[in-house]
Amino acid sequence: MATAADLIVLDTLSMLYAHGHGLNGYCRPCRGYFGVLMLVLMLERGRDCLSIDMAPLRCLGCGGGARSTASSRRRRAAQV
Ligand SMILES: [Zn+2]
Repeated sequence: MATAADLIVLDTLSMLYAHGHGLNGYCRPCRGYFGVLMLVLMLERGRDCLSIDMAPLRCLGCGGGARSTASSRRRRAAQV
């Protein structure tokens, strides 16, 4: 049985990326949905940027603020 000491907290961009996760962006006004290049985001915001309550992403469609949602690179790769 796992204990609290066994848990890995994926609270930063680098921890998400290291464990096979990424982010998608969703823009409510234009209903845009896009994948985020994690390496580029880490260069812009820093590898220790907290992924929780992160500043909005820039929407690729309209340039407005987009919410970030978690994605799994491993699961996406398995669906191909
Ligand atoms: Zn948009």
